[in-house]
Amino acid sequence: MRLSGRQFARYSRHLLMDDIGVDGQDRLLNSHILIVGMGGLGCPAALYLAAAGIGRMTVCDADVVADSNLHRQILYRQGDVGEFKVDCAKRALQEVNADLVVQAYAQSVSAEILDGDYQLVLDCTDNLAARGLLNRHCRASRLPLVSASAIGWEGQLLAFDFVRQQSPCFNCSITQSKPEAATELAEDCSSAGVLGPVLGVMGSLQATTAIAMILGYFQQHGELQRYDGKSGRWMNVTLSTNPNCQLCCGSKVDV
Ligand SMILES: [Zn+2]
Repeated sequence: MRLSGRQFARYSRHLLMDDIGVDGQDRLLNSHILIVGMGGLGCPAALYLAAAGIGRMTVCDADVVADSNLHRQILYRQGDVGEFKVDCAKRALQEVNADLVVQAYAQSVSAEILDGDYQLVLDCTDNLAARGLLNRHCRASRLPLVSASAIGWEGQLLAFDFVRQQSPCFNCSITQSKPEAATELAEDCSSAGVLGPVLGVMGSLQATTAIAMILGYFQQHGELQRYDGKSGRWMNVTLSTNPNCQLCCGSKVDV
């Protein structure tokens, strides 16, 4: 694909970067990303990816916009309350970038939705069942997976490059975490609360990681990043395959 004159202007700050340039931008424009969950993480992630020139996006979420979403789900406006999130998101994302092709599903993730020609999957859900499904699908299909969550002041990102043979998986991270970490993931922000901008940090980090993976700059097999917004501290851990993970090592634990 050759960039148009308008695209040269639009993406000029990417084109100035030696490690993106025309070839990298072209790769982004030809990419198709699946975003599962269009809540507090999916909104900022999709917004940055749309602005950055990702060519195609498939989004799914069964919910409608509620008043209680508006403090963190930045794609939605007060007038959107009661409408399906994916319909509002599609409209807002295409206002940001008219070249973006968006396929919207007002339903939870399913086998039909997973059966697409994606380069990468963003897990922006708030439940362990969907995370487990995405983990198994991406691992089996060798699709990179970028998963995030947030509670209170804290956020967590897990990135798995399943294209590589020895990548650990989401299940590995649970079985090697402390018990309280699993509890944290099992809670959702409707019961525990969450600071809106923390989701902005984590959703933006998902978008950044997705772009780094698509451009081939993500070097780890699996990476955990934790952010504490109250102290401003970050923790990074390179993950390895867990001998207790049933998926990777055939043991008893599963999600
Ligand atoms: Zn595993």
